[in-house]
Amino acid sequence: MSDAMSPESRIAERWQSIEGRICDACAAVGRDPEGVGLVAVSKGRSAPEIAAAARAGLQRFGESRPQEFREKFALLEDLELGIEWHFVGRLQPNKVRLVVGACTMIHSVDDADLAETIDDRSRSLDIVTPVLVQVNLSGESTKGGVDSGEAGELLATMRTMAGIRPVGLMTMAPDVDDAEEVRPLFRGLAELAEQLRRELDLELPHLSMGMTGDFEVAVQEGATLVRIGRALFE
Ligand SMILES: *Cc1c(COP(=O)(O)O)cnc(C)c1O
Repeated sequence: MSDAMSPESRIAERWQSIEGRICDACAAVGRDPEGVGLVAVSKGRSAPEIAAAARAGLQRFGESRPQEFREKFALLEDLELGIEWHFVGRLQPNKVRLVVGACTMIHSVDDADLAETIDDRSRSLDIVTPVLVQVNLSGESTKGGVDSGEAGELLATMRTMAGIRPVGLMTMAPDVDDAEEVRPLFRGLAELAEQLRRELDLELPHLSMGMTGDFEVAVQEGATLVRIGRALFE
């Protein structure tokens, strides 16, 4: 049977299963599942695959490579699928113009030069771009992100920029066999956000954390956006 399933129903089935797991994770800690948004990470997926997922009802898609994003954005723009794009990957200042204006949120801001370039571009388009500060809590040098001790300074710099609105924190946990191993990192991000809210008097409503291998633990620790690729598309 499953061979004959349309791409739409296949993805709808996977999506439903993920939503069920998010609901269970919320129930375990007494959270309202309405407070958890799903970002379907579509890097490496073709425009037709993304269109099928959007027709199945997914609306928020995350991309991590500026050029690839821009090509798919161009192909999908006119289909009026109601897609809300998030940028979740490494971003160099010279690629900012490919992303700002086309993405609803940038999850991966980790330095002041990048913030300034996003600010400049946003102001020239007369928009305000919501951004998250990416924090590196694992110490892995291959992952982007500021050290937790630097997040406050970057947020303080960003709050003076009229073209940027800092709305929270993001982190990427290392790949582990047992997601319980990264629970302390997610808890650490939630605690850091709480501390920064107090110190800087910022709202910072969003915690972007949790991927295919660890999203239930992230939800239990307070994620408001989970970024899921493989569990939806593979
Ligand atoms: C690829 C990617 C994801 C999704 O990872 P999966 O393990 O496929 O769910 C999430 N966040 C970022 C930044 C990514 O690059």
